Formats: sequence, structure tokens, C-alpha cells
Amino acid sequence: MSLTASLFALEQLDSDIERREVAMRDARRRIGRNPELETAEARLETLRAQTQTALAEQRALEAEIADLEGRIRRDHSRLYSGQVVDARELASLERELEHYRSHKDGLEDSCLTVMERAEQLQAEVDALSARANELRQRWETDRAGHTRELQWMTDELAGLRGEREREVAALDPRSLDIYERLRKNLGHAVSEVTGGVCAMCHVTIPAKDIQHARSGVALVQCPNCGRILHAGHPTL
Ligand SMILES: [Zn+2]
Repeated sequence: MSLTASLFALEQLDSDIERREVAMRDARRRIGRNPELETAEARLETLRAQTQTALAEQRALEAEIADLEGRIRRDHSRLYSGQVVDARELASLERELEHYRSHKDGLEDSCLTVMERAEQLQAEVDALSARANELRQRWETDRAGHTRELQWMTDELAGLRGEREREVAALDPRSLDIYERLRKNLGHAVSEVTGGVCAMCHVTIPAKDIQHARSGVALVQCPNCGRILHAGHPTL
């Protein structure tokens, strides 16, 4: 293989390695985290706390109502027991009873509102809980797939790196240095000459440079972008 053909092959190999490294990072990220599930679980936690608060509020109201019912029963029996005969005392008892009843009505309305809210929250918890379970199960399955994929990519990457080492060993250090530098600075080190122009920067390459590049013995760089020119066989 000519020098430029070897560098062209090396660049394809390097791009392959980079693509796999990106895919592996992505697979690792997917194995480690699931943002959709995290969001669902955080929301679920908030909803559960809100449900508990509503239920506690409901219990407190129910206790208060039960207490008032006790007072109402007590006042009611006193009122009709015949023990209280004083007109002012009777009137005061009636006012108190009226006050307890009106307070109880207000509390019952509040209790109903809180109960409805607790039920609604519980329904949301149930629905989101089912969704989170679904997401978790799917993630478990996906994770197993990603783990297998990662193992497969790791093996493949080791193979590609071995291949790269062999390619690099066959190259002279100076050419390799130029290649590495260009790749680092420009992203791509080798550019194909197609239709007489550099495929990367689209500048026309002088015919003698194309001929030199085609011989593949020495490095010919694009006069514009500086990339190593790789010229295949002349177009027929
Ligand atoms: Zn160029």
C-alpha cells in the first residue's frame, strides 16, 4: 500500500474508533441513568407527600367534627333533659348549640373538599406509579441490551486498536506526526482528490500535485487547507 493510501486507511480506522467511543459513552450513560424515570419518580414522591398531607388534614377534620358531635349531643340532652329551667341559661345553651352546628357544617364542607383532593391525588399516584413501573421494566430490558452492546463494542474496539497499532508501526514517524497534527487541528487529516479538487476545501489542485499524490510515495498537502492529498486512479 502506498504511503497516502496507508494514511487514508488509518484515518478511516481512527474515525471508526472515534464513532465507537462515542457510542460506548452513550451506552454507558443509558445504563447509568434514565432521566424520564427519574422525573416520574420525583413527581411520584411529591404526589405521595401531598396525598399524605391531605389524608392527615382529613383525619384532623374528622376528629374535630367528632368532637363537635359529642358537644352537640351533650348540649342537646341537657337542653331537653328538663334539668335546665332558667330561661337565660336555656337561651345561652341554644345559642351554643346553634354555634356548634354551624361550625360543624363548615367543617364538613372543608372535609369533603379535602377528601376529594386526597382521592384525586391518590388517583394520580396510582396512574403515575403504573407508568414508573412500566418505565423501570423497560429500562431493565434496555439496560441488559445496552450492556451486551457495550461488551460487543469493547471487543470490537480492542480489535480496531490492535489494527491501528499495526498500521502505525508500518508508517514513518514524520508522516505520522504530520497526520496526527492535521487530524488534531482540522478534524480530518487526509482529503481525497475528486474531479481535480480537494474534497475537503474544494480548491483546485495543480495537475503535478495530483500526479505526485497519485504516486503515493511522498506526502503532498493541499495548497489551501494543508491536508494530505489522497488521489486514486485517474478518472477514465
Ligand atoms: Zn484542501
